[in-house]
Amino acid sequence: MSAYKEMWEKLNLDIPAHDGLLAVLGKFYGDIYLSQQGRLKGMEYLDFVLSEVHGLRVKELQDAKAQGRKVIGTFCVFVPEELTLAADAVHVGLCAGADAGTEQAEKLVPRNTCALIKSFIGFKLARLCPYTESCDMVVGETTCDGKKKAYEAFAEHVNMHVMELPQTKSESARALFRAEVLRYTSELERLTGVTITPERLAAATKVVNDKRRALQRLSRLRAADPAPISGRDALLINQVSFYDDPVRFTQSVNALCDEMEARIAKGEGIAPAGTVRLMLSGCPMAVPNWKLPYVMEGSGAVIVGEESCIGTRNTRDLVDESPADMDGMIDALVDRYMRIDCACFTPNTERLDNVVDMAKELKADGVVHYALMFCQPYAHEAMKVEGALRAEGIPMLAMETDYSMEDVEQLKTRVQAFVEMVR
Ligand code: SF4
Ligand code: SF4
Repeated sequence: MSAYKEMWEKLNLDIPAHDGLLAVLGKFYGDIYLSQQGRLKGMEYLDFVLSEVHGLRVKELQDAKAQGRKVIGTFCVFVPEELTLAADAVHVGLCAGADAGTEQAEKLVPRNTCALIKSFIGFKLARLCPYTESCDMVVGETTCDGKKKAYEAFAEHVNMHVMELPQTKSESARALFRAEVLRYTSELERLTGVTITPERLAAATKVVNDKRRALQRLSRLRAADPAPISGRDALLINQVSFYDDPVRFTQSVNALCDEMEARIAKGEGIAPAGTVRLMLSGCPMAVPNWKLPYVMEGSGAVIVGEESCIGTRNTRDLVDESPADMDGMIDALVDRYMRIDCACFTPNTERLDNVVDMAKELKADGVVHYALMFCQPYAHEAMKVEGALRAEGIPMLAMETDYSMEDVEQLKTRVQAFVEMVR
């Protein structure tokens, strides 16, 4: 990693603090990931990507910038990657999953802000994130109150573009989102100097759809019993999907799926048949937020799906590739994005149907609903999700936590009791 020191210095990272972060991340990864038995061979690619998360991939971003390409950072699955790619820019997720720079973050946002927000602000203020430092533009969105107010403060530190997102799925809401998609298109064209033509958008849409198709395939294969892959590994794949090169990533996921199919055909899995199968549902889990999955799989269960933005909420729907003109293509994009069932919408009944359908398809014995502390939208919906699952005879455990390690023992006790109950 010292090979990248010069690059990190140029990005103005706090080198000693950054070294410390990488050391903790490496140890954490070893304990949670590399200690697993019977992992798929294809996970070696993901291990490599993770080991180079602040190295090789960041170097690729610098190389792209040297060729005149722009880097766009995002925090939400509502920002259309198709448009970013069509403008020949690089699209990276900036959501952060570690307790870092919290003290500095709390000078910019209130203490009772969710850990995800505090984390991305903390990473910026503590100069720990080479991705944020590589961005030519950061795109926010008016989803939850915490995020939209945080972006006002964040805009003092980065070049921000904020998309206005509707809160309902009405016709006027769709019109608003369509206008915002066009405004993002213009902003990208201005920044990159590239005109987004129908040809460019069609090619980019195919790249992003292919990535989602590969992740859908991975999700479907997890319905097998014994489960062919651990939940930790599947979560990591979804996390990496937000910053890896999309074409290379898709190839790797499809190769991994081939291996999973072979494993399923032999009746083999990551855990014995009959292991308690749990599904996760709720807030996104950004790298390196692996605490709850580690606790769940350390409690004798296997995770078979993630109903989350770092999971199926981001991959469930594809963009219709049939329109050939710009208007039709933008409509297809808007239709696809307006199907996202984020808890920021009211009402959001489609999420309840989606959670229940997914739990049934994956033959989950129970669902663990995960909300970050101070996240109002998902904490509210936990109650509705529990009711919808109960009506179908599927038990649910509601958990609220943050990025600290202080509650690990408490989480274990509750998860172990739940696993015993659904067994
Ligand atoms: S949970 Fe909602 S606000 Fe958060 S990334 Fe997903 S869609 Fe965006
Ligand atoms: S986890 Fe909840 S509070 Fe935090 S950014 Fe997402 S929707 Fe907002």
